[in-house]
Amino acid sequence: MTDITDIAVVGGGLVGLMAAQCFAQSGCSVRHIYPKCTTPPNADYPISLRQSSQELLESLDLWTHEVEISSMRQLHISAVGQFGMLQIAPKNQMLAHVVSAQKLLAYMQIQVKQQENIMTTHTKVVDVESSSDEFVLICERRSWKCRRLIIADGVFSPLSRILGVRAKTYPKMMQSSICRVSTDGWPKGQGLIRKTSHSILGCIPRNKNEGWVIATQLAPEKEIHRPSVSTLRKHIEDCLSTRIGKLTDFELMSEKNSILQMRKMSSQARIIHIGNSCISTPPIGAQGLNMAIQDITACQRIQTHTNWMNNEPMAWQHQLQAYCQPRHDSWYKKISLLMEHLRNPGPLNQLSEQAVWFMLGISQQAENQLKALGLGYG
Ligand SMILES: Cc1cc2nc3c(=O)[nH]c(=O)nc-3n(C[C@H](O)[C@H](O)[C@H](O)COP(=O)(O)OP(=O)(O)OC[C@H]3O[C@@H](n4cnc5c(N)ncnc54)[C@H](O)[C@@H]3O)c2cc1C
Repeated sequence: MTDITDIAVVGGGLVGLMAAQCFAQSGCSVRHIYPKCTTPPNADYPISLRQSSQELLESLDLWTHEVEISSMRQLHISAVGQFGMLQIAPKNQMLAHVVSAQKLLAYMQIQVKQQENIMTTHTKVVDVESSSDEFVLICERRSWKCRRLIIADGVFSPLSRILGVRAKTYPKMMQSSICRVSTDGWPKGQGLIRKTSHSILGCIPRNKNEGWVIATQLAPEKEIHRPSVSTLRKHIEDCLSTRIGKLTDFELMSEKNSILQMRKMSSQARIIHIGNSCISTPPIGAQGLNMAIQDITACQRIQTHTNWMNNEPMAWQHQLQAYCQPRHDSWYKKISLLMEHLRNPGPLNQLSEQAVWFMLGISQQAENQLKALGLGYG
């Protein structure tokens, strides 16, 4: 392999790893660049993955059942004052795989390292020079050349800024508190979404009577307004006790701020933005990774009949945009409407009802069944 590779992937998160593996498996030489950093031990969080996402990971050799914590087989969605249970037929159908973000990352790193045509380089890209047929990625100690560039450098995307690719951003930030809870009445495999006037509570099952609650709301303007742990516990208990019982144990694991923002998936024919650098949604959507996996699936599909390395990368770009951009646009619109709804609460309206379907990574098939039932939430 020479110093110029077909593709450089910048970013070593879940999405960068998937992109590197996908293009390496299609026969491209890949340089994968990201700083080596250790994640703090409490950085883990549950991710719910659609069945189709799990299948894509499996096809890329990036899946092992060891990363799986539990499965979600029932989903209960409710708004204030309205309760009900949706049993999705056929009985016990898999809705989503709940995985550990940290274990999935560690497993993917091991698998990607074994791929012969991926060269991993632990450094930071600080600048990019572009000519008609190659990019030069200027890193901390030396530079690397590539013909195509995949940007998966996360939500602040320094590379997109360097390249002048602007993001469309919703003005308010969201704050998500990730809590581990034990209860006295949470059935195994049951996921829940409950919307209150100012927050969305997503409950992800672990075992019988235990799981996580991700409580998301618009971020308070001032630190001083941040709810205390006891207030948060009370809020969660008040909202959820009818469904998961009384909280017997409660631990606030972490708090994350997140923004809703979107960049065009392909700003020019030889560059792709993917993962959080392309579209980042607050965890209320439970869709960040599922979206990126759908994008990787599109890349994989296009690559089988039109090689991105050909002289006409624009044809490739147009196909990718056609596959992915409408989905991104529609998702951005739905979540921004939902955020607007939290800003000016009122009864659950038609638009936020639609947005709710996509939460917790429920499968397209289940989503259609839910719609066919006519009553999505009870
Ligand atoms: C609490 C929580 C729950 C979630 N639940 C779900 C869920 O249920 N379902 C779902 O689908 N998604 C979920 N998500 C979203 C999902 O985790 C993210 O969408 C996904 O991890 C994004 O990964 P990424 O690789 O794009 O970005 P990141 O993980 O941010 O990775 C960015 C990478 O780029 C590197 N980098 C940055 N700058 C440079 C540079 N200059 N040079 C080189 N490298 C650079 C960084 O070091 C890092 O390796 C959840 C997220 C959270 C926080």
